[in-house]
Amino acid sequence: LTEVTGPVPIPGDGEALVRLAYLSIDPTNRVWMREEDSYLPAIPIGDVVRAAGLGVVVESRNEAYAVGDLVMGLLGWQDFAIVDSGEATAQVIPPGLAPTDILSIYGSTGLTAWFGVHDVAAVREGDVFVVSGAAGGVGSVAGQLARLAGARVIGIAGSAEKCRWVTEDLGFDACIDYKREDVGARLAELCPDGIDVYFDNVGGAILDAALANLAIGARIALCGAISSYTAAEPPAVRNTFELVSQRARMEGFLLLDYVDRFPEAVMGLLPHVLEGRIRYAVEVVDGLERAPETLNRLFTGDHTGKLLVRVSDVAD
Ligand code: NAP
Repeated sequence: LTEVTGPVPIPGDGEALVRLAYLSIDPTNRVWMREEDSYLPAIPIGDVVRAAGLGVVVESRNEAYAVGDLVMGLLGWQDFAIVDSGEATAQVIPPGLAPTDILSIYGSTGLTAWFGVHDVAAVREGDVFVVSGAAGGVGSVAGQLARLAGARVIGIAGSAEKCRWVTEDLGFDACIDYKREDVGARLAELCPDGIDVYFDNVGGAILDAALANLAIGARIALCGAISSYTAAEPPAVRNTFELVSQRARMEGFLLLDYVDRFPEAVMGLLPHVLEGRIRYAVEVVDGLERAPETLNRLFTGDHTGKLLVRVSDVAD
């Protein structure tokens, strides 16, 4: 990554200038940095790193944006961004929510958990629900939503402290420390009748262990596979025959496909958050220059919940 300095861009006709306030630090930023295209084209060498962010309009030549509007979109790792009102640039956010909430519980993190739990996995009363990346942004919310839907919830996370947080503070029923415990053996112990829903954030060996412990008719919501994002070779998954023998369904999903339904998820999350039934952690790191090291923390696991970078205090 190279830091580039230049003059603040001047908005043309139909454009607006946005001053960045916060960046959302997401595993998918790393996916977009790979050489090959994924569900979006790879970021070309020399381009600004693509990332979701929130900022304030400081100059506008587009009637969709007024100076002072709070906007969210793929604003990138930069101090200022030019936006237009074309597809997928920046949406104006109505006032009333804290910027850090807009990029966490009411942003891609909370919304991904919502659609994964309710839509893809269709969690119901009595399900045994297992989630990996359990102390991360998406996983911590997914587990709580599943519990509110009546499931017994088991997390998988990378330290004893993370396991303590999800069980004692968030109300998960159990948690497996995958760095110190045998995940397959612990899943067999904790889910003697098998897993009804596995919400997968990590892929690889942990997905394999979950596949080996499915209940008949299990559903697997494939949300992410962070164990493969920086690997030279994607880790092998061996236990796919279990899908056949357990008549199970495994389905990937992308939040991008739910854009029209975002208001439904925000309205669904709001009462749970306001009434304290869902808790979440957000850590804000100051300074755009710290975005690369903050992104790396998603891969070392050196954080709990959602990571944001504060680029300026313009929205505080
Ligand atoms: P996160 O879970 O807050 O952070 C990533 C966590 O992954 C780390 O804290 C680390 O926790 C764990 N991890 C890192 N490397 C690992 C490995 N090799 N094996 C096992 N665990 C590892 O990140 P997030 O933003 O909430 O995203 C979680 C997942 O959801 C990611 O896979 C992401 O790509 C996916 N996602 C998908 C969508 C979608 O539309 N489908 C949208 C948003 C996010 P430990 O300490 O527990 O290892």
